[in-house]
Amino acid sequence: MSTQSTFSVLLSAPDTGGLEQEYVMRAMKSGWVAPAGPDLTAFEEEVAQRVGVAHVVGLSSGTAALHLALVSWGVGPGDVVPVSTFTFAATVNAIRYVGAEPHFVDCDEETGNMSPALLEQALTELKAAGTSVPVVVPVDMLGKCIDYTAIIDIARAHGAKVLCDAAESFGATYDGKPAGSFGDASVISFNGNKIMTTSGGGMLLTNDEALAAHVKKLSTQAREPVPHYEHTEVGYNYRLSNILAALGRAQLSRLDDMLKRRRDWRDRYRALFANAPGVRILGGADDSGDNCWLTAIIVDPELSQWTAQDLSQALADAGVESRPVWKPMHLQPVSRGLNGTMNRMSEKLFAQGLTLPSGSAMTSVQFNTVTETIQRFV
Ligand SMILES: *Cc1c(COP(=O)(O)O)cnc(C)c1O
Repeated sequence: MSTQSTFSVLLSAPDTGGLEQEYVMRAMKSGWVAPAGPDLTAFEEEVAQRVGVAHVVGLSSGTAALHLALVSWGVGPGDVVPVSTFTFAATVNAIRYVGAEPHFVDCDEETGNMSPALLEQALTELKAAGTSVPVVVPVDMLGKCIDYTAIIDIARAHGAKVLCDAAESFGATYDGKPAGSFGDASVISFNGNKIMTTSGGGMLLTNDEALAAHVKKLSTQAREPVPHYEHTEVGYNYRLSNILAALGRAQLSRLDDMLKRRRDWRDRYRALFANAPGVRILGGADDSGDNCWLTAIIVDPELSQWTAQDLSQALADAGVESRPVWKPMHLQPVSRGLNGTMNRMSEKLFAQGLTLPSGSAMTSVQFNTVTETIQRFV
């Protein structure tokens, strides 16, 4: 638990212990204290196997993975990239790093995920205006997969690639297939608050061998394979380090247990709010494929007689952290002047949403503090 926090129960604290220490120490003792080494290779292989993709590149962050996929595909100035507005800033920032223009697409009410109907409308209108739309970037909200079948079909019908931001959904499935295996490439994140962590890190996953090879080269300063330092394109320093990959391997070996624990919290939250008027769990009734990274409630104050903000305050008074869901990117000052295809649903979900403590490191005693506070409040 973080000692810097004023909360005694955190939203999603890293879940690391003895096994992680052992793996990291072993990597250090092996001498591979570099962004290369046997743990990185093994970590990539283990993730590739788990997700069922042919190629995986370990990178310093999920943001780096988004960035390099766009760089490798040559996305840049003059291109427009439809992207979920209901997301963390990193998704949209990557599009801006390459000089392309994000085009925000709003979401479905039940899940907060990109609306296929709005994507269809956006692509139809952009194409009719002669706009270049090389790629679409949808996001799996809080660990629930988007409607991959619909979104990928629509994008392909308009000649656009799909870069899946699965940063939050590692361990989730859609139609029985793992998040990270969809589209032309997917991105996952191992940031400190995600379902599993390397403290900081991410990956690009793809079945496209050429893309994986190019991203790997770009991530290591774009060195040509000759003895001296030879460069024919601009490179980046984005490779995941071997030490952090060792941490990732320990986490991956515990992933199923961590998923189970988060699902357990989800089930108990669902039971807790089952009879609370105007309160629902974001993502809908069927969460069988979700990784339950964060459980968020949506509160209709006209029915509940209280707001998400009221509950957040009551939880804070009891030392429990909770947070609003992502503020839609089209509402952010940094997005001024950008366009989108909107139904305003993300604005409603932002106003009425609250994420609740969901971490796998949370103890039952801590969780009881959360539920007792909620029960008293409701
Ligand atoms: C966390 C996150 C990212 C960024 O991943 P980092 O590893 O922190 O760079 C990107 N997109 C979404 C939706 C995220 O939640």
